[in-house]
Amino acid sequence: MADAQDPNCIFCKIIQGKIPSRKVYEDDDMFAFHDINPWAPVHFLLIPKSHIPSMAQVTEAHAALLGRMLVKVPQLALQEGVNPYPEGGFRLLTNTGAEGGQEVHHLHWHVMGGPRPWLRG
Ligand code: AMP
Ligand code: ZN
Repeated sequence: MADAQDPNCIFCKIIQGKIPSRKVYEDDDMFAFHDINPWAPVHFLLIPKSHIPSMAQVTEAHAALLGRMLVKVPQLALQEGVNPYPEGGFRLLTNTGAEGGQEVHHLHWHVMGGPRPWLRG
């Protein structure tokens, strides 16, 4: 079950419904929603409900949660319309820290797919 949330965090507010989003999936531990500025025909973000700032804060205690999230990625990608592997597929990406290109400091995994060309990536 999710623990701490950060009242100033935009993604915590999305989880709580205080900021609207186009939801892809939700359970006790994780939340997925469409990226507001998609790079690809399919582009959604998968986030833990607990406020982990980035991959840099991940510990052994998060291993089961992260494993459950990882298993969800291909299921949700197909659900959202990516073409099947190997002709289709998807990209899984996480930016970490300023030099890693991270802008929102609540751990999130970008899942991108669909026919090319894409806007970026
Ligand atoms: P990053 O650079 O990895 O931190 O990416 C943050 C991502 O969050 C960007 O792709 C943004 O388009 C996306 N984003 C920011 N605000 C929202 C929002 N309110 N709803 C959906 N996606 C958002
Ligand atoms: Zn947060």
